[in-house]
Amino acid sequence: MSSGTPRLRNRLAFRLTLWYAGIFTLCSCIAFLLFYTLITSVIRDRTNQELAGQVRRYAAALASEGIEEVARTAVIETQAAGVRKVFFRLLYANGVAFSSSNMEYWQDISISAAAVQQLLGGAGPVFETVVIPSRRDEVRVLYAMLSPTIIVQVGEVMENYSRFLDAFKGIFVTTMALVIVLAAGVGWFMARRAVSGIEAVTRTATMISEGAIEKRVPVKERGDEVDQLAVTFNQMLDRVQTLLTELKEMTDNIAHDLKSPITRIRGAAEVTLTTGKSITEFESLAASTVEECDRLLEMINTMLLISKTEAGVDKLKFEEVDVARVVRDACELFQPSAEDKNIGLHCDTPERISFYGDVSILQRMLSNLLDNSIKYTQPGGEVKVVVAENEKHGVLISVSDTGIGVTAPELPRIFERFYRGDRSRSQTGTGLGLSLARAIARAHGGDITVTSAPGQGSTFTVSLPGH
Ligand code: ADP
Repeated sequence: MSSGTPRLRNRLAFRLTLWYAGIFTLCSCIAFLLFYTLITSVIRDRTNQELAGQVRRYAAALASEGIEEVARTAVIETQAAGVRKVFFRLLYANGVAFSSSNMEYWQDISISAAAVQQLLGGAGPVFETVVIPSRRDEVRVLYAMLSPTIIVQVGEVMENYSRFLDAFKGIFVTTMALVIVLAAGVGWFMARRAVSGIEAVTRTATMISEGAIEKRVPVKERGDEVDQLAVTFNQMLDRVQTLLTELKEMTDNIAHDLKSPITRIRGAAEVTLTTGKSITEFESLAASTVEECDRLLEMINTMLLISKTEAGVDKLKFEEVDVARVVRDACELFQPSAEDKNIGLHCDTPERISFYGDVSILQRMLSNLLDNSIKYTQPGGEVKVVVAENEKHGVLISVSDTGIGVTAPELPRIFERFYRGDRSRSQTGTGLGLSLARAIARAHGGDITVTSAPGQGSTFTVSLPGH
């Protein structure tokens, strides 16, 4: 694994963690920002209300008791509240101050000409926030008309605001540090959980590539996507393993089936060479060699035909075929060999069944089935071929016999290439006939099924769905 392990920043778990922590941190920042905006606007509103309340009181005092009284009350009020916390100035309409609280501490706060202009222009009270660089707290200032000729400027230090800001900064930094650590921890844990299944698949695939084909990915039974991946991967491995086993068996069988005739040819040639004297002996050697070679060639040709048929429709010659006729012709062809073996061969077909297929390989399929039925049925037995057509299954061709039958354990294997039943070895054959028949049925979109009872007979049914 070590050479194949990706660098940390390329690892999925690491990237997922970064994403998770990043998104989590961003969401937390947005939440903090919203909270901050809300609180600051509440604090500012409260300060505005206090300043507006102050102005209302001055206006009432002006109406009832005159300007001197307003100035006197304002001075007392500012002293009571604290001369470093609040201030006021009374101005003429031209912006010149004629009375104020103790302004020693408020030298930096000037009179804003723009605000005065705005007020005189008819706008309502004007609020301003003044930041004085040398001081920690911001100052909220309100300009308002007390009468058509008198303007009041009141100000208040936003202490609460600064206190909140300081506390907020502290909380923000600590909370964000915790959030990042927590998000990274949780993200890493979740990402590890998510990718552990994928890592298991990779580990298994690595072991398999190193030769351990029997290894499988452990399935956690959670039923999630990673489990589905593991199950599909295992199914694929099962299939690959079966194919490999079949391939190995087939290679063994080919080697075996090639070895026997070649050994026989060699043996006969050796005997004739060492002991043969007459031309007749050499002639018989040549004849048996031709016979063995024919068998070998037939086997090789059948293998090639199976491959061609399995390669698909492109390699075949499809045309309109009368299946009923093809079956009748096949029965006629096999009638003599059935009679030779004293077997009754019956054929039951309708007048005509039209089908789209490759006539030469369909004939080959029927020959193989009929040949087997006659071969594996004892003298006195019966072979019956029935052809029918129905809406659901298309064309159905069944070849039944009363022969030796196939045992249950052999049944699933008889369609394998080179497989020959134990009790069939006395008969000639290559074990390729049924594989070819099945490949032909499948090339036409159909299949072959078999039912059989040992000692009673077998029925092979070919279904060829209509196009
Ligand atoms: P073979 O050359 O041995 O006949 P096949 O592929 O045609 O090869 O058939 C495979 C095996 O299936 C045979 O060896 C035999 O055991 C069994 N088999 C096929 N057809 C029949 C049948 N009609 N009755 C009984 N056994 C059969």
